[in-house]
Amino acid sequence: MPGPSRSSPPSVHSEGARARGASQPPTSVAPPVAPAVRAPAPRTDLSEKTVDTSSLRAKASEWSAGKKLAYLRDRSIGDCRRCALAQGRTNIVFGVGNPEAELMFVGEAPGFNEDRQGIPFVGRAGERLNIWLDLLGVPRGNAYIANVLKCRPPNNRDPHPVEVARCSPFLHAQIRAIQPKVLVALGRFAGNLLSGSEQLALHRMRERVLTYREAKHGTTVPVVVTYHPSYVLRQSGDAPPGTSKADELVLSDLRRAVGFLRQGRP
Ligand code: SF4
Repeated sequence: MPGPSRSSPPSVHSEGARARGASQPPTSVAPPVAPAVRAPAPRTDLSEKTVDTSSLRAKASEWSAGKKLAYLRDRSIGDCRRCALAQGRTNIVFGVGNPEAELMFVGEAPGFNEDRQGIPFVGRAGERLNIWLDLLGVPRGNAYIANVLKCRPPNNRDPHPVEVARCSPFLHAQIRAIQPKVLVALGRFAGNLLSGSEQLALHRMRERVLTYREAKHGTTVPVVVTYHPSYVLRQSGDAPPGTSKADELVLSDLRRAVGFLRQGRP
């Protein structure tokens, strides 16, 4: 069965060309003077602010996934202030892993440790994810891991809709760059966003075959929704890591995701 479309160029946030003409108020005394025309500066590389969007997209279509991600992080996100979460963050938590990954995990938002280190899924939640990957025989370095939000909400509260609306274009751009074969949503927010099933509870999403669709670029990727490691930690009590009922549910979901990788999409 076919994987996701891999032909679409990345949509990157170019600085774009700016209108530069400034109108001069007419004067009844001096004769009209032709405005000075300044030759445009030559374009030497993509870091120049004068590069136009279509040219950039054409060049970016030839880039590796790693270069697309680096551009997205450094130039498109930069020191992002698009929502109020910028005020309380220590680091923007962009994502980590193999830019060519076939399996991509998407969580909700950075927590305390992620905010401090600038890396998603570290701390206890990250350890639990690592245990799951070990049990499945998937090296963490082979996957890519990111969040819906790139900055930590205060006290790890749920994301607000306006924050998701402002930040999720970065996640969509990451998916376009990586072009994974399977997406795993960790938690309800990631599941709702990736599958477009905004009203479904997590247990309903787990039961269904869901698909990530981005019509603009023709991207479609199967989505497996499962529980967030933080939820599993709360449910597991004193059970050894990887052995609780909640762990078993997640592992069955992740086996399904790995099965999609091996057998093609559902
Ligand atoms: S959460 Fe996203 S949109 Fe908001 S400031 Fe951070 S990077 Fe920007």
